[in-house]
Amino acid sequence: MLVRLLYASRAVDPNPAVIEEILAQSRQFNPTSGITGILCYGGGIFLQALEGGRTAVNELYGHILRDPRHKDVVLLHYEEITERRFGGWTMGQVNVSRVNTSLLLKYAERAELDPYAVSGRVSLALLEELMATASIVGRV
Ligand code: FAD
Repeated sequence: MLVRLLYASRAVDPNPAVIEEILAQSRQFNPTSGITGILCYGGGIFLQALEGGRTAVNELYGHILRDPRHKDVVLLHYEEITERRFGGWTMGQVNVSRVNTSLLLKYAERAELDPYAVSGRVSLALLEELMATASIVGRV
């Protein structure tokens, strides 16, 4: 049973070293639990999609909720799926500051990552477009 979970949060410390540490941790542990996904970061905000077995995703989300490196964690979308969309990444990365402004404006009032201001469906559409435009790095 596969599920996809999407959430947003605000970084406590926007230091790039912290983001790198989170990505390294994700890429180390996700393969053993069969989790794949995308982590978007920009303007102090995280947008992360997690895919995998229901138990594995739910357990990881429980850890993520308690992680002191971020706050204001909000669940945007959760669904049972028959296939993965982000299966090529143990944890793909998108640096929003490098994303084409028009792509961000397509889905939001301003050219910035603000999943708090849009629906979960819109944030998911943005992630899919980022994938289609090869904005995601870290394929393994
Ligand atoms: P800790 O108390 O930090 O670690 C206990 C022990 O478990 C340590 O020895 C450590 O090396 C080991 N350990 C660390 N992580 C894991 C793990 N996932 N599974 C098994 N053992 C572990 N973590 C991910 O694994 N995948 C992600 O995709 C992911 N995305 C994140 C996104 C954001 C925005 C943030 C802030 C954090 C993310 N994390 C992710 C980290 C996650 O929040 C936890 O730090 C991690 O799951 C470890 O849990 P813990 O803090 O309870 O364990």
